[in-house]
Amino acid sequence: MISPLNKPYRPSSPYGWRDLSGNGVKDDFHNGIDMVPQDGKHPTNILAVADGTITDMRNNVPDSHTGLGVKDKVTGNYVNIRTATGHTIIYRHLRHNSIPSTIKIGSPVKAGVIIGIMGTTGQSTGIHLHYEIRDRNNQSINPAPYIDNDVRLPGATIETPVHYDVRVNAGATLNIRGGPGTNNPIVTALNNSPTLTIIEEASGTGAKLWGKLQDGRGWVALDFTTRVTPQTAVSLIKATSRVRVKRGAKTYTGGNIAAFVYDRTYTVDFLTGNRAVLDSKGLNTPFNVNDLELV
Ligand SMILES: [Zn+2]
Repeated sequence: MISPLNKPYRPSSPYGWRDLSGNGVKDDFHNGIDMVPQDGKHPTNILAVADGTITDMRNNVPDSHTGLGVKDKVTGNYVNIRTATGHTIIYRHLRHNSIPSTIKIGSPVKAGVIIGIMGTTGQSTGIHLHYEIRDRNNQSINPAPYIDNDVRLPGATIETPVHYDVRVNAGATLNIRGGPGTNNPIVTALNNSPTLTIIEEASGTGAKLWGKLQDGRGWVALDFTTRVTPQTAVSLIKATSRVRVKRGAKTYTGGNIAAFVYDRTYTVDFLTGNRAVLDSKGLNTPFNVNDLELV
């Protein structure tokens, strides 16, 4: 998913238990993350982070209606979007009348579309975005791991990327082409049995199977190569795999490794690229697949 802001952010209040009243007791559970732009500049556009449907919204709370204790208007102006995965994305405290007229209940919305401007309407002490994700059971999850172009919501399309090495068959001269198929222009020719790393497969004219090179030079006909390494862990680990977290593993930003026990097994909820998200106690912590082992 993309970030709801089109620029770097700073979390002014993270997800989880917090001491809202300042009495030293963390007795308030914050269901979302409060985001402010790192550069402190406004106005800041708020973007839809995923395709979905507008399920609820409000645009008429005046900007002057800020501060605590406004019980019926705690959320200020807001937009709720339901995604195809059944999650609800919630954006609160938007500026008065900043939500475009195309954003209305029941309308579809595409990722990247501006849905409003950051504001401070409702129970809010300064301009910020309250950004919240709820799962299919209407339970909030920590949105921090998803504020990233790579990370998808659980249940989103599962990728099992190709990643292995091949060697060009002895005696063969292999053309690298701009795309999968002999109808694509030749970029260069290879011989001397070089080893190539393949990251994508496709069908195309002139060969049974074409492979895309990791080095970005183009595509080769795999019929004239021999595979020399098995699929890497990226391909071996799939959603629903049972895995163990290797000692010393690091999580991606937003993850909480302290909550993990190395010798226990977890289920991969989903993965994208080399990033696997383990669904344990709602933490949805992402790991590099190379830091996981199948059990
Ligand atoms: Zn908040």
